[in-house]
Parts: sequence; C-alpha cells; structure tokens
Amino acid sequence: NAETPFHYLTLNDLGGVLKLRMRHAHKGQFGHALLIAGSQGMMGAALLSGRAALRSGTGLLTIHTPSCGYSILQMGLPEAMVSSDRHQFNFSELPEMSKYTAIGIGCGLGTKDFSIRGLDELLGAIGQKPLVLDADALNIIAQQNWQNRIPRGAIISPHPKEFTRLFGTAPDDFAGLELLRASAIKYGLYIIRKGANTAIALPDGQVWFNSSGNPGMATGGSGDVLTGVLTGLLAQGYTAEQACKLGVFLHGLAGDLAAESLGHEALLASDIVDHLGKAFQ
Ligand code: AMP
Ligand code: MG
Repeated sequence: NAETPFHYLTLNDLGGVLKLRMRHAHKGQFGHALLIAGSQGMMGAALLSGRAALRSGTGLLTIHTPSCGYSILQMGLPEAMVSSDRHQFNFSELPEMSKYTAIGIGCGLGTKDFSIRGLDELLGAIGQKPLVLDADALNIIAQQNWQNRIPRGAIISPHPKEFTRLFGTAPDDFAGLELLRASAIKYGLYIIRKGANTAIALPDGQVWFNSSGNPGMATGGSGDVLTGVLTGLLAQGYTAEQACKLGVFLHGLAGDLAAESLGHEALLASDIVDHLGKAFQ
C-alpha cells in the first residue's frame, strides 16, 4: 500500500547516502562533534560513545566530562579532546559551544540537580545546532516535563522505558506506534525508539523499521554506541533523517558482523564499535 506511513529500512534505502571522501580531503571538512557524557562510575558510556563518533568519521571530537573523567578519557581515547567540567563527579556547566557542528548529550550523565541546570542551559542556548538527546538527558527532560523545550528537528533515541517516561504508554503495540508517530509530529522530532527492529519516526509521521541488529546487542553500552554514531554523522553534515537511517542501520549491521564472529552471549558494546569499519565498508 503506497499510502502506509510504515516502511522497512534496508541497505537499498541507503544507496548514495554515504558521502565519499575526496582525495584532498582534510579533517576540517568533517566537522567537530561535542559529546557531553559520563559521570563517576559511568565513564565507560563516554568512552563508548566517543569511540563510536570517531569511528563514524567525525573530523574532530571533544568530550565534555566531569573532572574525575579527565585522565580516563585522555588515556582511553587519545584521538579525542577533553573539556573538563568544574564539577568533579557530574556534568554541571556548558562548555563554549560555537565551534561544534553537532552535539550529543546524555550517555552516563546522571540526573543530579546541577546536571538538570546544565541541561536547562543547553536547551536555552542550542538554537538550531544539530542535536542528539539520549539516556539521562531524556530522563531529566521527562522528570522536568520539558518535552516542549526540545528543539524541533532534534534526534532523540529512547529505549522503550525512556520513551514511556517521555510520552506515556499505550494499551497495545498498534496504539504504541500511533503514540510514537503522534509524538514525532507534535514535537517536530526524529524519534528513534530502540529495540529489536528499532522504529525511527520522522517529524512528518513516517516510520522506518530497521532490518539490521540482533539480540546479542541487548547488553550495557549498546545505546551509547548509537548516540556516538548519530552525533558523528550529524557533525559531518548528514541531515537528521540521513543520520537516523544510516546510523541505526550501520549500528545494527556492526552488531550483526560482531555476532558472526562472537555469537550473541559474548558480544560487548565495544565489539559493535570495533565492527563499525566493516559495516561502513
Ligand atoms: P540501550 O538500551 O540504550 O543500551 O540501547 C540498546 C541498543 O541495542 C539499541 O540500539 C537497540 O536497538 C539495540 N538492541 C537491544 N536489544 C536488541 C535486540 N533484541 N535486537 C536488536 N537490537 C537490539
Ligand atoms: Mg541507553
């Protein structure tokens, strides 16, 4: 039915979307991503999303993180620059944002009072800059009832529980899909509702179900990897729609390639990052 808003996302839908690099390309052409991530005991989320952003081709990456994470990130991810928050254990203040071409916030962030103020400041200052909100950024928004403050055109990537906190529940799966569509339309958002066959709802109400991915990806950190991929793609100038489709599909494909060699049980989120290269190829 040509009228259906529901579509199945496969490799065929991505033909020609991936930008090829010119021979004389330099890093200044591929953007500068900013990830605001990590807190005490959750620095892995910053490392995973950061590695994933770099593996997705961003020219430069800065990670803003509490000061307890400074050495961890500098040693664990030498390709990234680190902006240290004045707070030792949690995100509390915005770095200067003008030089960044895309921002991803939320992985391992925590939901402390000063992090709430930091996110408040970000939502007020972000303007139309490409933005990905995930994890604790979404939990804060749900807690504060800030759904209306999310900039239109932003990407949000809730798992089902985070989605429910933001937009409520539906009596059955079909009503759930209508709630997903209605939320994307109402708030003008790109909503990636994660799970098996992740559903990407566009602001015009179209929904794309992802065909890649496997249950081996049901493991801590998988979502942080996706946030890094999405932010890395946005930073390079992919549109939000392209970043969602390409990012979700490549993330699942990297998981499938990782599962080919490791199986489902042993698969770690970092294995998804390690297979991003093959997935892009
Ligand atoms: P999070 O819950 O934020 O860590 O995100 C989990 C990530 O793993 C999302 O990208 C999901 O789509 C993916 N994932 C989790 N479980 C499955 C599954 N059973 N099949 C495919 N992908 C999955
Ligand atoms: Mg998550």
